[in-house]
Amino acid sequence: MLRIGLTGGIGAGKSTVSATFADCGGVIVDGDVISREVVEPGTEGLAALVDAFGDDILLPDGALNRPALAAKAFQSDEQRATLNGIVHPLVGKRRQEIIDSVPEGTVVVEDIPLLVETGMAPFFPLVVVVWADQETRVERLIKRGLPEHDARARMKAQASDEQRRAIADVLLDNSGTQDDLVEQARRLWYERVLPLAENIRTGSVVQTGPRLVAHNPGWAADAQRIINRINTAAGAKVLRADHVGSTSVAGLDAKDVIDIQVTVASLEDADQIAGALAAVGYPRRPHMDSDVPHDDDTARWGKRLHGAADPGRPANIHVRVDGWPNQRFALLFPAWLAANPDVREEYVEVKRAALTAPDYAEAKEPWFAEAYPKASAWAEATGWRP
Ligand code: ADP
Repeated sequence: MLRIGLTGGIGAGKSTVSATFADCGGVIVDGDVISREVVEPGTEGLAALVDAFGDDILLPDGALNRPALAAKAFQSDEQRATLNGIVHPLVGKRRQEIIDSVPEGTVVVEDIPLLVETGMAPFFPLVVVVWADQETRVERLIKRGLPEHDARARMKAQASDEQRRAIADVLLDNSGTQDDLVEQARRLWYERVLPLAENIRTGSVVQTGPRLVAHNPGWAADAQRIINRINTAAGAKVLRADHVGSTSVAGLDAKDVIDIQVTVASLEDADQIAGALAAVGYPRRPHMDSDVPHDDDTARWGKRLHGAADPGRPANIHVRVDGWPNQRFALLFPAWLAANPDVREEYVEVKRAALTAPDYAEAKEPWFAEAYPKASAWAEATGWRP
């Protein structure tokens, strides 16, 4: 089963996208709906609220009087904590029950308005953000019957557009018509979400042909989302995680593949985090257990390699051991290139030439064999440290 995250500012069009995903076969877990369900008449949730706040929070028919509850609960931080202490665990439990009951192979879409605010984004292999600019959203909300000052006040209380963009693996633009949005959401589902689910299920990674593209300023943010996922999934075993390789060097043309280096204490630790990385979208690539050694200490060039299951964001995740020469070189290499424009130019030429070779990675190796001592000498001379 794959769980993806869906969010968007109020009025952005999230409901349209979640309805489309449901049409396509997704199971929607909607935080707002669940928080209503757990305090319906006859629930333990409603009974607990009455115990805590008194029965004047009920309507004559026994249902919850939300404004009356809000008036009491928002009087003090303590009252608010009491309310959250009752409702949040019940919502969490219900959410888990729904997730546990779906058939194998289902894609669960977690519709979470406050995905930024709750910091949950890195738990999902894919986060979809629905976007429209603020004025468009205000206009649409007014049409839906919300007073303008209410619409603006709610937007102000939410995360900013910029914060939402930062967690977005996919940004669905809802500046056009609703039909456009539905079409974008359907394409996303069939071209990216379902293949991602299948790749995670089978432990497969996406591969890209050798094609150089101009440096993309969005690569840094893509790398950061991968790093956040890895840190969240693999916890304390990750000593550090860095964006490395060509896409980390400003201005350098590169293959559209993000390289991340995960530093661990040992190859045993690398093996122990393999399952967690796979679950969050980065399955292991077997038989790729060493870099080409550039010194005689060949045993200390071992590593583990993972790739990306998401067809929309190819990546290599190199898991290497702290202090080994390959780990150090991966950190040194982008620093050396960034500081030496002439070497950078030379490297681009080497990459261009390698594109027509039978094996792209292999064709670059002779250059790397010479680059390694040069980069090491540069580190020595400048006092560079990881
Ligand atoms: P959200 O669920 O993100 O808060 P909604 O999906 O409810 O937002 O959209 C807010 C309002 O704007 C709704 O009344 C919806 O019908 C309308 N709406 C959504 N997308 C469009 C669009 N592309 N053009 C015009 N109106 C739209």
